[in-house]
Amino acid sequence: MTAAETRPQETKIEIAGLQKSFGPLAVLRDIGFTVPAGGVVSLIGPSGSGKSTLLRCMNLLVTPDRGSIRVGDARFVFGSGAPLPSHRELAGFRARTGMVFQNFNLFPHMTVLQNVMEAPVQVRRRPKAEAREMALAQLEKVGLVDRAGQMPDTLSGGQKQRVAIARALAMEPEVMLFDEATSALDPELVGEVLATILKLAADGMTMVIVTHEIAFAREVSDRVVFMRDGVVVEDGPAAQVIGDPRQDATRQFLSHFH
Ligand code: ADP
Ligand code: MG
Repeated sequence: MTAAETRPQETKIEIAGLQKSFGPLAVLRDIGFTVPAGGVVSLIGPSGSGKSTLLRCMNLLVTPDRGSIRVGDARFVFGSGAPLPSHRELAGFRARTGMVFQNFNLFPHMTVLQNVMEAPVQVRRRPKAEAREMALAQLEKVGLVDRAGQMPDTLSGGQKQRVAIARALAMEPEVMLFDEATSALDPELVGEVLATILKLAADGMTMVIVTHEIAFAREVSDRVVFMRDGVVVEDGPAAQVIGDPRQDATRQFLSHFH
């Protein structure tokens, strides 16, 4: 046996007992799941089930009320009198988790290259020349290095989203989180973004992907987590959860996609 076979697989992301309410509305009621290093987990579930809130908690854009979140060797515990993370801890943690949103959120007044360089220069204090090289390498990876000098509004939606992915990668995150990255795209532009995400998976990036592209979730994911009303209803191998769900609620949700 090789060392890789005998060594237990490292758990990269560990979420336990996560709870979040907005006023009286309990949005995350007790969420737990793990992702191994290099693993891909897709989160599926009806609108309003708490998927975006969960991803935002994982990036600490939203502060959970209770529970714990670990990414790599950074762990935060919330509730029970635990101190809130400092600004410095928050910034450090956010740099570990690259986030891609439905609506790209590119800086409209900056070129593609400037968009990708911005956070490495401003947040990580990278020298400009180094950040530029890195940004061009990331743009190469998403197939857009020839668009480096263009403004975002000259790009298609699919190209904008690939720039957003390059921008997240430029911070050298340990994990990538995608929140419905293709939901705002015209159907003919979805494929190029999914292909980019598949390539990241093949490169060994650890990812959590919220998506309504069920066929894609099955293809790209090791596991699929079905959420409803702020709880994990089903968590299993992608082919099983999608092809042969154990829970009625999962089966009912998936029936809308056939
Ligand atoms: P999903 O992404 O699965 O559609 P969300 O996490 O966006 O679900 O939302 C879950 C619930 O939390 C919804 O009822 C939504 O209206 C509510 N919600 C989300 N963010 C906030 C907020 N900042 N303040 C109040 N309610 C919120
Ligand atoms: Mg959402």
